[in-house]
Amino acid sequence: MEKRENLEELKAKVDLVVFFEHQGVKLIKQNGDEYAGLCPFHPDKKPSFYVNRKKQVFKCFGCQAEGNIFEAVKLLMHCDFKKAVSYVAGFAETGKCSVISTEHKKKPVIQIVKEPVSNVNLGIAAEHYHKKLYKNKTGMTYL
Ligand code: ZN
Repeated sequence: MEKRENLEELKAKVDLVVFFEHQGVKLIKQNGDEYAGLCPFHPDKKPSFYVNRKKQVFKCFGCQAEGNIFEAVKLLMHCDFKKAVSYVAGFAETGKCSVISTEHKKKPVIQIVKEPVSNVNLGIAAEHYHKKLYKNKTGMTYL
């Protein structure tokens, strides 16, 4: 088992905000040292996931997941503490962390963009069908 001082030293070398951003979590800066985003641990619709850059801790108000970088890696990788430590050590050394795929991330995120329907477009569409109907003999007979 790693010594506590070593773990603190390791923790100081990495940034939890950077770690989550590497994992595809978009974090938006709030007041002070707080960052908020969609939780990577549960299907989150509104940002209920908070990371404190100064304290290097995270907390989700949706699924109650919380902790430091070691807990974050453990939760994402579904691994034990020892494996999490070696992952963080690699991150500290290279400044890069490999992307951990989670179950939630495998699901495609579909964004539905609702475009406002303008009356102008509707008018053009109506006129188009009107003309088409007049050109078509069957249409005429039907009318
Ligand atoms: Zn959550």
